[in-house]
Amino acid sequence: MSVAKQLYELQEVDLAFESREQALEQVTGKLGENKAVLDARSKLASENQRREELRHKQHSLVLEINDVTTKIANAEEELYSGRTKNPKELANLQHEIEILKAKRSELEDRTIEVMEQVEAAVTNVGAIKSELEILEAEWQAEQEKLKADKARLEAELVSLRQRREAVSSQVVPEVIAFYCELQKGKGTAVAMVEQGVCRGCRLSLSNAELQRARSGDLTQCSSCGRILFLA
Ligand SMILES: [Zn+2]
Repeated sequence: MSVAKQLYELQEVDLAFESREQALEQVTGKLGENKAVLDARSKLASENQRREELRHKQHSLVLEINDVTTKIANAEEELYSGRTKNPKELANLQHEIEILKAKRSELEDRTIEVMEQVEAAVTNVGAIKSELEILEAEWQAEQEKLKADKARLEAELVSLRQRREAVSSQVVPEVIAFYCELQKGKGTAVAMVEQGVCRGCRLSLSNAELQRARSGDLTQCSSCGRILFLA
């Protein structure tokens, strides 16, 4: 096998390694918490809290209504007991009962409002919960896939690293160093020759260059400097 062919193989391994490394980086970046899921979770928590606060408010209103109802009953009992004879006191009692009844009616209206709000909050919590379930299921499935991708890419990188060692061990270190230097400067060190054209810079090669490359000697493109490889 010519040195150019060996270096071309080495380059293919290097390019494959690079692309797997980039893919692994992307996969690793996507692993972990997901913003949509976190947002839905915090939305659910705050809506749950709101629902509890409304329930608490509803409960307080019911207690307040009971309290007012007891006061009304006591005042009515006093009014009709016959114990109070003074007309001014009786009028006062009646007035007090009217005020209490108005207050109770207002409290009842507020209770209905709060009950409606509780109902809406319960519906809301349910909707957020189903939304969260869907998001979590999607996220879970994505995470599983990402974990599998990560394991596959890591295994591929291990085998590519072994392959690189195997290929580069067949080439003298000085040539490998030269290859690495070209690769650093140009991105790729070896260029395939197709129909007399260097694929690295897309310029035509001279007959002398082609002949040299064909002979198996290490030949650089006179335009771009890449090592020429004829398949
Ligand atoms: Zn070239």
